Amino acid sequence: MPRLHEQHGRYPQANSVEDFLRNLAAVRQRIADACRRVGRDPAGVRLLPVSKTFDEAHLRLAYAAGCRFLGENKVQEAQRKWEAMADLSDLQWSVIGHLQTNKARQVARFAAEFQALDSLRVAEALDRRLQIEGRHLDVFVQVNTSGEASKYGLAPDAVADFLRALPAFSALRVRGLMTLALFSADAARVRPCFVRLRELRERLRQDAPAGIDLEELSMGMSGDFEIAIEEGATVVRVGQAIFGARALPDSHYWPTVSE
Ligand SMILES: *Cc1c(COP(=O)(O)O)cnc(C)c1O
Repeated sequence: MPRLHEQHGRYPQANSVEDFLRNLAAVRQRIADACRRVGRDPAGVRLLPVSKTFDEAHLRLAYAAGCRFLGENKVQEAQRKWEAMADLSDLQWSVIGHLQTNKARQVARFAAEFQALDSLRVAEALDRRLQIEGRHLDVFVQVNTSGEASKYGLAPDAVADFLRALPAFSALRVRGLMTLALFSADAARVRPCFVRLRELRERLRQDAPAGIDLEELSMGMSGDFEIAIEEGATVVRVGQAIFGARALPDSHYWPTVSE
C-alpha cells in the first residue's frame, strides 16, 4: 500500500553506495508494482531523485549508485552543488522549486530542466538568459491542483492562456505539467489532485499550440508516488525514500507565497 506523508520520518539515511542501491531498487520495485496495478509499462515512468538538503558527499554516493539526474528545489543550493560537482560531466540538474526572476540567470547556466514554471515573467527572463547562453531548457508548467494558497503554481483554469504565450520563448521546451498534491496522509484527498492534473492535460492537449508538448506529468513524491503513477505520472520526484528522511518539516521547503 502507498505510504503517505505521515511516514516520511521513517526513511533511514543512506550513507553508502549500497544503501543508495538498495533504496533505489526498493523505489523502482514500488514503481513497477504501481504500474502493474494499472497496466502501465514501468519504462513510461521516470524516477527523478531529489537531493535537496543533502551534502555533496551524499550526492556523490547517489551518483556512484547510478543517479545521473538530480532534483533540487532551491537555486542557490543547486548552483553550489553543480559547481562543486562539475567533475561529473554527465550529471544533470533539475530545478523543481519556485524561481524568482532574479535567479533566472543561474538556472539558464546550469539546469537541464525546470519543473516549476508558473509566470510569464520567469519564462521571459529564462528565455532571454538562455538565448545569451546558447542553451535550451526543458520546462514543466506548475499547476496548483490542491487549491492551497501556500502552493505555487497556476490555477488550473489559467493554464490554457499561459500555454498560448509560451511559443514566444523559443529556448524553452515545454514538456508537460507538474504538481504537488495536498499534504495529507489520506489517499482519498491526495488522489484528486493527480486526477485533476491528468484531466487538465487531456483537455489542453486537444488544442495545444504548435511546439508545446504536454507528454509529461510530473507528480508524486516519496509519500504518494504510487497514487500518482496510478493516475498517469510520467515523472516522479523522490527524495526521502532514496536519500533518507530530511531533518526539517516539509513546510521549510515550501515557503508560503507571501514570503
Ligand atoms: C522535496 C521535493 C520533492 C520530494 O519530496 P520527498 O518527500 O523527499 O520525496 C518533490 N517535489 C518537490 C517540488 C520537492 O521540493
